[in-house]
Amino acid sequence: MQDLTDEILELIRRAATDLPPDVEKGLRAALENEAPGSAARGALETILKNVELSRANSTPICQDTGTPIFYVYYPEGWNTRKLRAQIETAVVQATQRSYLRPNSVDSLNGKNSGNNLGGQHFPSLHFEEVEGEALTIDLMLKGGGCENVGAQYSLPNSQLGAGRDLAGVRKVVLDAVHKAQGQGCAPGILGVAVGGDRGSSYYASKEVLYRQLDDTHSNPELAALEQRLTEESNLLGIGPMGFGGATTVLGTKITSLNRLPASFFVSVSYMCWAYRRRRMVWRDGQASYS
Ligand code: SF4
Repeated sequence: MQDLTDEILELIRRAATDLPPDVEKGLRAALENEAPGSAARGALETILKNVELSRANSTPICQDTGTPIFYVYYPEGWNTRKLRAQIETAVVQATQRSYLRPNSVDSLNGKNSGNNLGGQHFPSLHFEEVEGEALTIDLMLKGGGCENVGAQYSLPNSQLGAGRDLAGVRKVVLDAVHKAQGQGCAPGILGVAVGGDRGSSYYASKEVLYRQLDDTHSNPELAALEQRLTEESNLLGIGPMGFGGATTVLGTKITSLNRLPASFFVSVSYMCWAYRRRRMVWRDGQASYS
C-alpha cells in the first residue's frame, strides 16, 4: 500500500496555515459590513492581516491549532490500520515543524504528550469505505475556545419554548449563539445536526462544516432556515470577537439524521473564524488539495 505520510503532512500544513478561500472571502465581506473605525472592523482587519501573514510564512493561523479531526473516505483494498499509522506519523512531524502546537493532554494528570498523539481518539479519526478509486482525506482543526461553546439540546425544551420542529430548532440554535457571546471567537460558523443519538448528532454537526460557506442546502426548508439563522444571529450584536457589530456568524450549515421517536436532539458545533479545513484527494498516484 502507498505510503501517504508526506502528502498528509502537506495537508496538515495547508490546514493550519492557509485559510480556505471561501472563508477568507466571507471575512472580507464581513469587513465591508462593519462601520469604519469600529472595534469590529479593527478586529476583522487584524484577523485578515494575520491570515495573510500565516499563509506567506507557513505559520499557524491561530496559536491554538485545535483538535485534528480527520475524515477518511477510502476505496476498497486500503488498510485503515496502516492509514491510521501514516496519519499519526504525519501529525507527529507536523508538531515537530510547529504547524501544530502540542495540544494532546492526559485528562487525568494534565500531562501533555508533546506530539499531538494520545490514545484512540487524539487525533480524531473517522474511516468510511467508498466506491471508486480515489481516496479522500478531509481535515479540520477545531479550536478549543469554539468547541467549548458548542451545545446540545434535547427537545422539547420548556425553558426556551422550543418544540420538536424547525421552529424549536431555530430557538435553541439562537440560544447557543447568544450564550457563546465572544468566547467562540466570532464571527463563527454554525454546524447544526437535527436528530440522531447524542453521539451521531455531534459527529454530524462537525461533518456538515465541510460544506462550502456559500453553498445552498438542497432542501428548501433547511436552506431558508440556514439563511434565517445567520441573519438573526447577526442581529444579536455580539460581533467579531464579541466587540459588537454586524457580523456574529458567517454562515449556518444544517443536516438532519433519523432519530428514535423518543428523542429529538439538536447539536450545535460552533466553529470560530479560524475555520481551518482542507481536503486531499489521492488519485492515480497523485495528491491534489483544496
Ligand atoms: S476559538 Fe479559534 S480563533 Fe479562538 S483561540 Fe481557539 S482556535 Fe483560535
